[in-house]
Amino acid sequence: MNFYLTILGSGAALPTGRRRCSAQVVNVNGFKILLDCAEGTQDRIRYHHIKLQSLGTILISHLHGDHFFGLPGLLSTMHLCGRTEPVTIVAPRGAREVIETIFSLTGNHVDYELRFVEMDYAEGIHRVFDCPRCTVDAFPIVHSVPTYGFRITGLDDRHQTTTPNTCNLRHTTQSPIVYTYCCDTAYDETLVPYMQGSDLLCLESTFADDLVDLALQRQHLTAGQAGRLAALAAPRQLLLSHISARYKDPDLLLGQAKALFPNTLVAADGQVIELKTMKMKSEE
Ligand SMILES: [Zn+2]
Ligand SMILES: [Zn+2]
Repeated sequence: MNFYLTILGSGAALPTGRRRCSAQVVNVNGFKILLDCAEGTQDRIRYHHIKLQSLGTILISHLHGDHFFGLPGLLSTMHLCGRTEPVTIVAPRGAREVIETIFSLTGNHVDYELRFVEMDYAEGIHRVFDCPRCTVDAFPIVHSVPTYGFRITGLDDRHQTTTPNTCNLRHTTQSPIVYTYCCDTAYDETLVPYMQGSDLLCLESTFADDLVDLALQRQHLTAGQAGRLAALAAPRQLLLSHISARYKDPDLLLGQAKALFPNTLVAADGQVIELKTMKMKSEE
C-alpha cells in the first residue's frame, strides 16, 4: 500500500514565510484527500505540483480561518479550470452556508456538484467517508468552535496479482495503515482511544510548555501535552504541527515532546512522509 502525507502548511493562525497555515494532502494508493484548506493553500498545491482536480475529497477540521478560508477560492479555481466531477466536502455544520453565501453575494458559482457532509456530533467516532482505498472517521475534539479530528485508514487494496509461471491468483495481506489528525484541540485524555492504533499521529503543538496557561485559554496544546497524549495513544510516530509563529526554531518544542514520546517529528512545509516506512523527504 502506498500512503503518503504532504505537508502544505505547518503553522498556526499567523502565516509566515516558513510556515503557512494548516493544510495537508493524504495520498492513499493514488486517491488524494485535502485535509484543511487555509488561505494560500491552492498556491501551495500548485507549488508542490499536485493536480488541483485530483482533490475531489476535502476534510475541514473546523471553520477557523487558518483551516478554512482557502476553500471558496480553491473551489472557484477548480471551476475556472473546467471541473465537472463532484467535490465532497466533509466539514462542521455551517460550512455549506458560508460557501453558498460567499458565492451568492459575490456572484460566483461552480458548474460541478458540491456534496457536503456536515458534521454535528457531540461525541463518539463516526464514519464520514469511504471508498475502496480508504475510510475516514471523525470525532469531536476540544476547541473554541466545533472541531473534529480525523482518522484515515488506508485499506489493503486487495488487488489480485498473477504469478507469471502459475497464473494462480492470490490476495495481498497488507494490514491497514492509519493516519490520525487532531488540530486544533486542548488537552483531553478522553480523546486517546480515537488516536490508538495510529501509525502516524499528527497533533497540534501550538505552544511550548511555559505557555501552558495560554494553551488552556485558547484551547490548544503545548508540545509536552502533545507528547503526553502520544505516550498514552502509542502511535508508531508522532508529528507536531500547527506551530506558533513565535518559534523560529522548533527544537524547543521537539525536545519537550520527545521527553515524553521519543518517536516525534516536527512538521515542516513541503515535507513528504511515507507512512509505511516513515521515510521523509523535504521539498522546500
Ligand atoms: Zn488553527
Ligand atoms: Zn482553531
